[in-house]
Amino acid sequence: MPRPIQATIHPAALRANLERARRAAPDARLWAVVKANAYGHGIERVWSAVRAADGIALLDLDEAERVRALGWRGPLLLLEGVFEPRDLELCSRLSLWHTVHCDAQIDWLSAHKTHAPHRVFLKMNSGMNRLGFAPGRFRAAFARLSALPQVDEISLMTHFSDADGPRGISHQLAAFQGATEDLPGERSICNSAALLRHGLQAEVRLDWVRAGIALYGGAPDHPERTAGDWGLQPAMTLASRLIGVQQLGEGDTVGYGSRFAAPAPMRIGVVACGYADGYPRHAPTGTPVLVDGVRTRVVGRVSMDMLAVDLAPVPGAAIGSEVTLWGRGPGGAVLPIDEVAEAAGTIGYELMCALAPRVPVVTDEA
Ligand SMILES: *Cc1c(COP(=O)(O)O)cnc(C)c1O
Repeated sequence: MPRPIQATIHPAALRANLERARRAAPDARLWAVVKANAYGHGIERVWSAVRAADGIALLDLDEAERVRALGWRGPLLLLEGVFEPRDLELCSRLSLWHTVHCDAQIDWLSAHKTHAPHRVFLKMNSGMNRLGFAPGRFRAAFARLSALPQVDEISLMTHFSDADGPRGISHQLAAFQGATEDLPGERSICNSAALLRHGLQAEVRLDWVRAGIALYGGAPDHPERTAGDWGLQPAMTLASRLIGVQQLGEGDTVGYGSRFAAPAPMRIGVVACGYADGYPRHAPTGTPVLVDGVRTRVVGRVSMDMLAVDLAPVPGAAIGSEVTLWGRGPGGAVLPIDEVAEAAGTIGYELMCALAPRVPVVTDEA
């Protein structure tokens, strides 16, 4: 028997989440963001669901080739644009739309030979200070691109730093609006957080919204709002089983560094899941976990291949009992990935993306 750990991808949940994202911006077109191998879910595994989007957005050119190989003929956008001049040949060959965020990318385009002119998304740095032209330089970039025979349609985009938090989007929205007011072209500014929290305003949702985490069932603004609050369902389950049980006496310790000491006699279960599977090593004692669908907690340090759980709430648990690290448990129980991430000091995005290659993945076609 293989080691009992397994991840399950739920395409039906992805389909429902995509519909949920559409309801947040009913008249906008929706990019399904599938970068990082569909946030760790596997582009091919989620394909039956994400193909219902209006466009596919990602970063890696090899992932773009995979999406075309799946038969996608619709819009396919490189969110960071090209990384070197010869990437433009692939853009021509695969009809990729690409972001333009710096002058070097415009230089490369002006030297590029192509039969079919490219559709580009000109990116503004409206305050995040990652990629894009500052508002004061945006028009000049637009003018340069407009003059190129290699370019046909120019769309306008920016990205928010605080759509999920108290600072909000208004300062960046004002910068974007101010510098683009009389420019033609379609516009795209929303990620999942902006879409869910602000998308009902027409001046925010605009022509295209870019949904990532929401499609995978994560709340972009956990813990202020949970995935359940947003009507999102988990698209990934990580499950394993108990492979050991220990009876502890008062003062007995668990795992490396003896980080947990039993305050009284207790039973613990040992789970075949560790940080080499993608479970966060920093998950402390108290991190939620389900055993046979019953909520309990991690105790002691997570090791490479194992972690320990408190069996007090599940006296019937024994070797072979099902353990849900995140996602859907037996009997309709759900453990949101965001809760595990929060306990470990990170976000659901990171846990999804970090699912380790050694974990076998199956698709739940139900
Ligand atoms: C990743 C990404 C998104 C999606 O963000 P989520 O928070 O996952 O919705 C949108 N736009 C850009 C430019 C991105 O890189």
